[in-house]
Amino acid sequence: MELQEIVEALIGKGYEVSCFETAEEAASYLDRKVDGKTVGFGDSVTLDSMKLYQLLSAHNHVIDPKHCAPGMDFWSTAKQCLTTDVFFTSVNALAATGEMVNIDGTGNRVAGSLFGHEKVYFVVGTNKIVSTLDEAVWRARNIAAPQNAARHGFQTPCAIRQDRCYDCKSPDRICCGQMIYYQKMRFIEMEVVLVKESLGF
Ligand code: SF4
Repeated sequence: MELQEIVEALIGKGYEVSCFETAEEAASYLDRKVDGKTVGFGDSVTLDSMKLYQLLSAHNHVIDPKHCAPGMDFWSTAKQCLTTDVFFTSVNALAATGEMVNIDGTGNRVAGSLFGHEKVYFVVGTNKIVSTLDEAVWRARNIAAPQNAARHGFQTPCAIRQDRCYDCKSPDRICCGQMIYYQKMRFIEMEVVLVKESLGF
């Protein structure tokens, strides 16, 4: 599938779209674009690998549950992220038809991606692209979840076996909810930043 077709599908669903050859170029673009804002982060290996927290913190007030301020814990920090000017996250899969899919165990990432901000950025490596929405839903549970669960050290069957989803009842279950972004949410700006690299899971 051609990237331009995916870009057009996303634009047709109301998103702004920007494309970059490298994560470094994408990070530089976002560093220029987001200035003087409060910024919230959803849990994302993609954002970590781009060092966006470090870049944006130099000229924005960035709130990230992975970098709690003194006296704050995960919960209080994640709550603050829900009402920042700007929110950053990624997705677990992007269908060539323009739908995106995220799974979430705690809910802060998906909640922050839907409401409460001037603008949401989804930063997505081309490794997350699949052909159809069905494949995107499958990828989130069978490709992204096992790797994310293992990253957190969770004892889910997918994390241990790294082969597929087992629809488990584990207390560590990483996919308590699954979100399909059929199109841009109303009354909020959303931009998909596509990077022609393998980023995150
Ligand atoms: S239901 Fe359990 S096994 Fe399946 S992806 Fe989620 S955490 Fe992994």
